[in-house]
Amino acid sequence: MALVKCVECDKEISTTAKHCPHCGAVIKRSLFLTWVVVVLLVAGLLGILPMLSYENKPIISQACKPIDKASFWLPHDKEFAKADFFSKAERLRASGLCVFEGGFGTLDDKYYITVSKTGDAKNAEILHFSYEELSL
Ligand SMILES: [Zn+2]
Repeated sequence: MALVKCVECDKEISTTAKHCPHCGAVIKRSLFLTWVVVVLLVAGLLGILPMLSYENKPIISQACKPIDKASFWLPHDKEFAKADFFSKAERLRASGLCVFEGGFGTLDDKYYITVSKTGDAKNAEILHFSYEELSL
């Protein structure tokens, strides 16, 4: 049982008391606060809160970060292309795309850079470039 101070006599009274046992003052509870709590609880139960925090969040702010070179990886025999590779990534970003990561795909023997128009990694697409195309 928590204790609060009576607004009238400043003595400690129970939070559950309806009257102050010292001075008899009627304890008013904040109706507004009660409603806020009720609304939040209901919203939380209905799943509205998670919706507000995830779906309506402007995703572009966190995804369109500056290019993180640590997210780019080239095998040793392709490191000569590093400068071209990063300037390609910078040009893609300058054209309005969010650039997530990049590397070299040994399967198709091409450089790849993962980008997204919306900044949402879920809608990202992988662009493939030959070495010559890196400088285009
Ligand atoms: Zn009192």
